[in-house]
Amino acid sequence: MNILILGSGGREHALAWAVKQNPKCDRLIVAPGNAGIAGIAECASLEIEDGGAVARFSDENAIDLVIVGPEAPLAAGVADRLRDAGISVFGPGLDAAKLEASKAFTKAICDAAGAPTAAYAHFTDRAAARAYVEAQGAPIVIKADGLAAGKGVIIAQTVDEALDALDDMFGGSFGDAGAEVVIEEFMEGEEASFFMLCDGETVLPIGTAQDHKRVGDGDTGPNTGGMGAYSPAPVMTPEVTQAALEQIVQPTMTEMMRRGTPYQGVLFVGLMIQNGAPRLVEYNVRFGDPECQVLMMRLGAQALDLIQAAAEGRLDEVQVNWADDHALTVVLAARGYPGSYEKGSVIGGLDGFKEDSKHMVFHAGTTRKDGQYTASGGRVLGVTARASSLAEAREQAYGMVDQIDWPEGFCRRDIGWRALD
Ligand code: AMP
Repeated sequence: MNILILGSGGREHALAWAVKQNPKCDRLIVAPGNAGIAGIAECASLEIEDGGAVARFSDENAIDLVIVGPEAPLAAGVADRLRDAGISVFGPGLDAAKLEASKAFTKAICDAAGAPTAAYAHFTDRAAARAYVEAQGAPIVIKADGLAAGKGVIIAQTVDEALDALDDMFGGSFGDAGAEVVIEEFMEGEEASFFMLCDGETVLPIGTAQDHKRVGDGDTGPNTGGMGAYSPAPVMTPEVTQAALEQIVQPTMTEMMRRGTPYQGVLFVGLMIQNGAPRLVEYNVRFGDPECQVLMMRLGAQALDLIQAAAEGRLDEVQVNWADDHALTVVLAARGYPGSYEKGSVIGGLDGFKEDSKHMVFHAGTTRKDGQYTASGGRVLGVTARASSLAEAREQAYGMVDQIDWPEGFCRRDIGWRALD
């Protein structure tokens, strides 16, 4: 098979690494890729949100399967364009990608499907939204309806904070994404991420994970894209998993089918779990980053068979070969992230690093210059280890971190604390 992966982050490096191990994979191209990905695949420059360009490129390179990493090409309709051109693609079309692109849409789906989620109301009018907040009180959650690069959610502890957030959103600070606002009940509990592959009809769970959103140890400081992850998440007991499947995921899939927009691709189900009962926080229509790194580390080569089966509508014919193992990723970021940071510092210790099926440094933001890796992003590396226990995976991942010579970088030292400490 000739395979094209779209994207350039740690998530896409992890996908490429898993796909590449499968003997079915003859040629692997990642567009645009990054310096780490270039070590295992061809990198091609391509405008990945331009469906026509991706279709032409796929045609010219006899691509058998396109795997879409990030949400932006999905929200731009790239998967539809490829399917129209008869090219096999893993990822939802525009209509189904609304499960991530519009929070009001997802809430309406939950209502129709009877899926448990936070009570909510949605508004296009500022005065009505303010009146609702004043009536509900705090804490309360204010969300811009559209895609806002992970910044469109404000957990307001006071009514004043909530009103300020409304003024911000209706004032245009999130552009069109904030023209419509969802106001939600604040949910208590523990969060977990649950991942499935979907082929429109069948869903196949492929693992659970927990992310670490705050920049500092002990979950302090501002939110980031994610500073580390581990899989599986112990809070996802078999009972919680079953409840999430039966009460949330399956009814959602049925409702999407009923509407004539069946969902195909990976479904990232963000859950809040309280007293053993899961409620939906959000759906994403792509793998999380860094959750993808721990999932791919655990799935390995079979990831390609499963993804291909999802793209071809054959998920009922495959199953996951589970190993009783644990994976953990520590993200190394540039000092200053998620605020401003310098680019261009040299990262030592990566060449000759012993990487194998249980130890990988996934690159998220690196460039190769004059034979050296340099940092070119905020989150730069995802140091990942797999072992028979989470404690061991953590020890090995931090052992690898300590071999990397990058004074301009930093990481959290407590990834996995919720499960371990
Ligand atoms: P979202 O983009 O909707 O996932 O929101 C980002 C983060 O905000 C989630 O991962 C949660 O930590 C938090 N969050 C969102 N909605 C709620 C809610 N209704 N109650 C409590 N926390 C929430």
